[in-house]
Amino acid sequence: MLFLVSCGGNISDKVSTLSIPDKYEQRVDSVLKLMTLDEKIGQLNQYTGNWQATGPVVEDPTKIEQIKAGKVGSMLNIKSVKHTRELQEYAMQSRLRIPLMFGLDVVHGLRTIYPIPLGEAASFDLDLMKRTAAGAAKEASAQGVHWTFAPMIDISRDARWGRVMEGAGEDTWYGCKVAQARVSGFQGDDLSDPHTIMACAKHFAAYGACIAGKDYNTVDISEQTLHEVYLPPFKAAVDAGVASFMNSFNDINGIPATGNTYIQRDLLKGSWNFNGLTVSDWGSIREMIPHGYVSDLKGAAEKAILAGCDIDMESRAYHIHLKKLVEEGTVSEGYIDDAVRRILFKKFELGLFDDPFLYCDETREKEVVLSEELKNLSREAGAKSIVLLKNDQGSLPLNNPKKIAVIGSLAKSQKDMLGFWANEGIVDEVVTVYEGLKNKYPESDIVYTDGYDLATNELHLMDARNAAMQSDVVIVAVGERFENSGEAKSRADINIHPNHQLLVKELKKTGKNVVVLLMGGRPMIFNEMTPHADAILLTWWLGTEAGNAIADVLAGDYNPSGKLPMTFPAHVGQIPIYYNYKNTGRPENKEIGYSCRYQDIDFEPAYPFGYGLSYTDFLISEPVVKDSVFSLKTPLEVCVKVKNTGKYAGKETVQLYIRDLVASLTRPVKELRGLQQVELQPGEEKEINFMLTEKELGFESACKGWTVEPGLFDVMVGNSALNVKKVRVELKQ
Ligand code: BGC
Repeated sequence: MLFLVSCGGNISDKVSTLSIPDKYEQRVDSVLKLMTLDEKIGQLNQYTGNWQATGPVVEDPTKIEQIKAGKVGSMLNIKSVKHTRELQEYAMQSRLRIPLMFGLDVVHGLRTIYPIPLGEAASFDLDLMKRTAAGAAKEASAQGVHWTFAPMIDISRDARWGRVMEGAGEDTWYGCKVAQARVSGFQGDDLSDPHTIMACAKHFAAYGACIAGKDYNTVDISEQTLHEVYLPPFKAAVDAGVASFMNSFNDINGIPATGNTYIQRDLLKGSWNFNGLTVSDWGSIREMIPHGYVSDLKGAAEKAILAGCDIDMESRAYHIHLKKLVEEGTVSEGYIDDAVRRILFKKFELGLFDDPFLYCDETREKEVVLSEELKNLSREAGAKSIVLLKNDQGSLPLNNPKKIAVIGSLAKSQKDMLGFWANEGIVDEVVTVYEGLKNKYPESDIVYTDGYDLATNELHLMDARNAAMQSDVVIVAVGERFENSGEAKSRADINIHPNHQLLVKELKKTGKNVVVLLMGGRPMIFNEMTPHADAILLTWWLGTEAGNAIADVLAGDYNPSGKLPMTFPAHVGQIPIYYNYKNTGRPENKEIGYSCRYQDIDFEPAYPFGYGLSYTDFLISEPVVKDSVFSLKTPLEVCVKVKNTGKYAGKETVQLYIRDLVASLTRPVKELRGLQQVELQPGEEKEINFMLTEKELGFESACKGWTVEPGLFDVMVGNSALNVKKVRVELKQ
């Protein structure tokens, strides 16, 4: 039966049946039995630490008293061994000595910073994403952190939304794979290993569908789109064993996610059988008041706990009102018990009851933080995340240049290379582009000039031109600063600053080879500068080793292999633009006025999903199937040959898309259903095979679940969503 979110959402009045593995069940229940109602509510209460402290961190004394009284279950924004130890010691003074759990937004590293998640998604390398998440976990756990509020697995189809930088882009199928890779990276095989941390799938749900890309905005979504596009990465995270979920700020068809019983209790804890815990987003319980869903904090506490939100992050709604709600009989204690059991279970799994100070290890902290191993990983991830957008006449790789002009203050900014959500990253350790080039070319004459003011973007053209004139090659860094994409960083205009584009245009007038490094956290528009650039490398914000990673690619020590995980629009008016749109009765057609298009702009993007060049060239053959009429008894095998026809060794990401031509629900024109990365030497050719089963050929229906329908399919293989070759097949009953 279909439970419509839009029909009230609050369907279930049952507490979910949580099944805890035998190993922990008795221990959890034995603690629960000892707890007073106050102590139970304490477990549901989460406070922030003094995260804005610039000097020594001193916590609010009221919070400390509450910890000692067992009225706080977890804290966020606590980030050193010393600090976590101190707070854990207070928790050990409480009656039942239940340990605190410490959470933090470890989004793309803690002290060693990796590329922003959207950038890293461009690597299309799931193993790499798993390894960087594991690296982040290693560093975070060494600093006393038990729990990261990551990965963000919201599908992002609107480049105006500032938080696109935190996710894996626009595609649901790929989003599921990335969600699983990152969850297993953070959590490892076993949470009781103190080098791992709990992951948190966020933001549940449909946060990325905020209207007009405005952060925190309302969401108005069909059941079908919710189930088909936005929910699958969350289900994939559950399947990967994710330990926690965070709900979202938005409402979904009129019901705030935090108070939404359908998504949290019925779906997540019910049908999906999730046995982890849920946490509100920061203050999102309280925010149900301005949403106009409840009139006061007490009403908010009631809606949230009934809906299945276990932990209250920073609203104090549970702390102030839950006891009364239970005493009055409005909320049965069973709801509280369910939430507490989930939390205790995780604390047991983390090993905190056995040793509350397990993660407070100064020696490990010293060994792990910014270790060579992690810095190398950051450099590798950086190079693999870069996308080559343009390369005229083989301008890149650089051919041992003697004189290099590095222009643009982003090329010397350490902070900006870390990107958003990297507050704990060690800025002084960041390798800038300038330094990276110095490391790479110690013999070359490298001149730097800022080109524009970092804060105001005012141009410094004269110096820039002079520097260019004296060089063999001009490397110019333009784009966004770290605070231009991120939370609360939505933008109506995603064109890069006109002065940055003008700078490129002016530099080209010197007649030199102009290589643009485009930095930023989202798809950007830069049509004005494109014709004046000989080469464009999209370098996102790559983290601690940014400069070395960029230099590796400029020099050709790493041949770029990144592909766009989001469509780059040609015009702001095209947004939201994504490759897997649905066909209409009047498909877009330039020649036909009455077709699905704008009068004043084209419908093609500047760069499609999956796009990215290499220093070499690849030829992908027509896809071949053994039998074009097939049944589901055996997988459909699709073969292509990939040949490196250029002069460098390189890696291609071969993408397989399908289109279900006629179905009971209209289907997108393309859906990614396969990915394979192949490394080839010059002249080398390899055959690769994709196996398509019901998992690849079906779709999620809001009414029926996973559905595969017989009929005709186009199977398309290529190296971007727009560059594919196809074969038609028929699935028999
Ligand atoms: C963000 C979350 C984050 C939380 C805690 C909120 O503002 O939406 O993604 O985990 O803050 O820092």
